[in-house]
Amino acid sequence: MKNFVSGDFKMRNLIVDDFKLSPHFTFFELTKTANSGFLNQNRAEALKYLKPLKHLATDILEPIRAKFKKPIIITSGFRCYGLNKSLGSSNTSQHLKGEAADFFIKGIAHNKVVKFLVEDLGFNFGQLILETEDNSSWIHISLGTPFRDKEKCRQVIKINKKTFYEDNKRQNFTDTK
Ligand SMILES: [Zn+2]
Repeated sequence: MKNFVSGDFKMRNLIVDDFKLSPHFTFFELTKTANSGFLNQNRAEALKYLKPLKHLATDILEPIRAKFKKPIIITSGFRCYGLNKSLGSSNTSQHLKGEAADFFIKGIAHNKVVKFLVEDLGFNFGQLILETEDNSSWIHISLGTPFRDKEKCRQVIKINKKTFYEDNKRQNFTDTK
């Protein structure tokens, strides 16, 4: 028990210096969170997922940046279990394995970016989701094979979070009856 506590203490207080995952994307960008209570833990755990995070930065984010010649704003990349849960996200989310990123490009319509990823880049992504919640929207993209089953790759989906949650609630309501 003593070991567990000291291990846990170290984990939470681990200070990680930022470093580049690819020429234009850093470890801090892909592990940030507005929930400061999870920040250190999130970065400490993300160190186990450097391989997928580097793929995300190199194979997906860099080509998008090169195409549109504008900075990409990452809103969420890797999420540790607690952070992911606090956001109401699924426990099978690829964010938990450093295999997904949410982002937008200022001044570029999401549809343009989605079209590029599907048609021009031809990248074998896992899921490409245009997510809308209240007045904000962003693009979720995840890694395809070998990180995700081939038959579940290249899915393009639109989600309105409000509708999604309402549907879930309805489902739960029905289940408990
Ligand atoms: Zn996402």
